[in-house]
Amino acid sequence: MAQARIGLIGLGVMGANLALNIAENGFPVAVYNRTGSVTDDYIASAGDLAKNLVPTKTLEQLVASLTKPRAIIIMVQAGGPVDSVIEGLTPLLDKGDMIIDAGNANFHDTRRRDAALSTSGLNFIGMGVSGGEEGARHGPSIMAGGDKSSFEVIRDILEAISAKHEGAPCADHFGPDGAGHFVKTVHNGIEYADMQMIAEVYGLLRDGEGRSAADIGKLFETWDQGQLKSYLVEISGKVLQTIDEKSGQPIVDIIVDKAGQKGTGRWTAIEALSLGQSPSTIEAAVAARSWSAVKDTRIAGQDLFAGLEMDTATAPAISDDDLEKALLAAKIIAYDQGLNLLSAASDEYNWDLDLASCAEVWREGCIIRSTMLDEMASAVREGLPHGNLIFAPRFAQRIIDGASALRRVVASASLQGLPVPAFAAALAYFDTMRQGRGTTDLVQGQRDFFGAHGFVRVDTGETDQHGPWASDIAHS
Ligand code: NAP
Repeated sequence: MAQARIGLIGLGVMGANLALNIAENGFPVAVYNRTGSVTDDYIASAGDLAKNLVPTKTLEQLVASLTKPRAIIIMVQAGGPVDSVIEGLTPLLDKGDMIIDAGNANFHDTRRRDAALSTSGLNFIGMGVSGGEEGARHGPSIMAGGDKSSFEVIRDILEAISAKHEGAPCADHFGPDGAGHFVKTVHNGIEYADMQMIAEVYGLLRDGEGRSAADIGKLFETWDQGQLKSYLVEISGKVLQTIDEKSGQPIVDIIVDKAGQKGTGRWTAIEALSLGQSPSTIEAAVAARSWSAVKDTRIAGQDLFAGLEMDTATAPAISDDDLEKALLAAKIIAYDQGLNLLSAASDEYNWDLDLASCAEVWREGCIIRSTMLDEMASAVREGLPHGNLIFAPRFAQRIIDGASALRRVVASASLQGLPVPAFAAALAYFDTMRQGRGTTDLVQGQRDFFGAHGFVRVDTGETDQHGPWASDIAHS
């Protein structure tokens, strides 16, 4: 049997394209799919690339077709299917072989699998792959974690198939066990926030100004030539300018406004909260998708509250320029929150994550790719004041330039009764981070009053202080 450098299990959307990408880059790849007919059809339609593809019909054949140490990518649905494939593979492999889970795994699962496989002498790589079908085929962004020495064995393949930014591969190893999948999860969380903010601009222009989908799409097209240049702004412009062939309507008008979610945005929020973080822009984006799901309720609410008067007359006028600046500022804030979360997870799990490298691998290939990421990577390399991107001089200046626009946008949306949860969350975070004295002195007072939790004195710095309300604590 022909020998391949790497194996791949799961010829679905992502796996099929990733294997073609590997083959096209000159690496023989052995492929296996649970449903064998899929493999036959796949090889038959691979054209010239079939010469670098080794079809196999059983896991035993797959394992036998690989050079040692064996490296096998699993690209099947996350969760149970990954465990069942690992269970089938484990007895067939030798010490030093590696299994690479390239699906969207929850990083806790990756940590569990890593620990379990290491007891059998097998190496595990949890690897996030972003860029969808097109990225998998022609150059995804790759975020790997797990055994570093195994990563080095296949680094040449991963770098060859990944997207490139000015020649630099958008593929890296981020740390042990679940580090790679965590970076991918946060990538997806930022993606949620970015998408939601763009959708909020669309909502303000559609419902606040009555602008057409095509008109808004053209505006996004213009923004895609400037500082907001990014894949998501680009495709938003395209979606809004696309006409549905069946109805002749803008396609966005025939799409039901209920957003799906597979879980990575929610995982980002859950993990953030458990790490004492709150990436409010991402949480708002997850919330917006969840709220979108209850369409019937929203329709009922629309009828029930139809008579509510909006204060549109006092709503500040917002220009396209305001919206562009607000989107830019809010987007920077979302990245600030995402990077803070990565940093907190790195501390918690001892990953020693290189945050600049995260921004670097996101520059091309992935869904959140944008020109701004290159500058973000540089800002992180230069050192983030207080660990915050919004304090880095070049980004602080953009926030200063966009803050009043963001404020006008949120104020205007509020007075018009238009929801902008991600913009509002970004603004509240920014205002909190620029307020040396906040309002949690009262929260601490409340906590001490009802629970004797103690507080720190401003004047002396003494800790575990209590107020003179001991006699009132009876109802605590
Ligand atoms: P997909 O098109 O639905 O393909 C799923 C593959 O998994 C099929 O080959 C299927 O084999 C196989 N499979 C399912 N259950 C299995 C089991 N119990 N044992 C063995 N094989 C099993 O999925 P996909 O979109 O390629 O996604 C794969 C992974 O990539 C997921 O974790 C996904 O979240 C992640 N991902 C997807 C995208 C995207 O844009 N689609 C982007 C980034 C990451 P059969 O043919 O036998 O059913």
